[in-house]
Amino acid sequence: MALSAKLQQTYRERLEQEHASVQTEIENLGNEVAILGEDQQVEGSFGNHDADNATDVMEQQRNMALMNMLEERQRDIDRALARLDAGKYGICERCGKAIAPERLEALPFVILCIDDQEIEDQQHRQNMQ
Ligand SMILES: [Zn+2]
Repeated sequence: MALSAKLQQTYRERLEQEHASVQTEIENLGNEVAILGEDQQVEGSFGNHDADNATDVMEQQRNMALMNMLEERQRDIDRALARLDAGKYGICERCGKAIAPERLEALPFVILCIDDQEIEDQQHRQNMQ
């Protein structure tokens, strides 16, 4: 069953807010990555800050992982918004069943029901190996 117009509007607003806040996080993180990158270049030219470099590299790796996660979240939000536009929001993209309302409430950007999410996560993990 499709969501009421009022609920659709509520979810759209939440998704747009989420999109904006993730966008801000991506920009902040991008600045941090750029600054760390410059630091590394400066330190690298002196060549005697190995410990510092190691910390920066780890920090940079963590930032990149976080960046990937945020970008993935952004894609999820875009997909959820597209589902809203298509009038299919709240319906699982794989099996076509309704996504549990409490799941949508907690994670408004999901486009899969919990069962299909598990299948997709498993496949994702297999691909990573
Ligand atoms: Zn499903």
